[in-house]
Amino acid sequence: MRKPFVAGNWKMHGSRESISNLLNGLSAQVDAVKGVDIAVCPPALYIDFVQSQLQGSVISVGAQNMAEEPVQGAFTGEVSVEMLKDMNCSYVILGHSERRSLYGETDAQVATKVQVALDAGVTPILCVGETLAERESGVMESVIATQLDAVLEKSGIAAFERIVIAYEPVWAIGTGVTATPEQAQEVHAFIRGKLAQADAAVAEKVIIQYGGSVKPDNAVELFGQPDIDGGLIGGASLNADDFMAICKAA
Ligand code: PEP
Repeated sequence: MRKPFVAGNWKMHGSRESISNLLNGLSAQVDAVKGVDIAVCPPALYIDFVQSQLQGSVISVGAQNMAEEPVQGAFTGEVSVEMLKDMNCSYVILGHSERRSLYGETDAQVATKVQVALDAGVTPILCVGETLAERESGVMESVIATQLDAVLEKSGIAAFERIVIAYEPVWAIGTGVTATPEQAQEVHAFIRGKLAQADAAVAEKVIIQYGGSVKPDNAVELFGQPDIDGGLIGGASLNADDFMAICKAA
């Protein structure tokens, strides 16, 4: 049995005041959530602040991105994996579609970051997903396979014992349009099946989150699908009641 995992991607939102309010709301409700791993991924600047507010909490903290370079050095504006470790980050989101589309991150760069995170003992949340044009032109599976192959080729199938995958159709992220449970399940099964070709036991264990306009009112059905093991939540993770309702649905 895979333990569901729900992570909140706060993107570039928040202030000390709004984050305190959000964390108070989460802390007040989190005891009611059982059998689900939970993480929040604040902007890097606030990771330390969030950690100090969450001391003793079951909620883990992750980052939204990190540098490709494994060691510190002359990389202005970047945050290294060792810094994330120093701040007790358990997870790092890698290859989010906004990083790929707005900042030009390639499959190869994402694969390098995944390996750097693994080497440091920080769990990557590897985002994969197709655009609407790719889905409509019938190349959805090959796009996702290519994204996964970059990591498989660099790190090998055994690495997926320590990787969380987030399937995030680009057309569903922040749009209010959610993949239907059937659409999402089809892709999750494709991803698990692809990994199973390399190692069935690893594929059976890997956590595959769904992300893309998950809300309290669609979470139960999505998370009820056999290959969906929780979610990566953007907009709804900024509201404590909504995020906790989504965690409960997992
Ligand atoms: C995301 O940013 O990873 C995401 C899924 O966003 P939203 O839930 O807002 O669609």
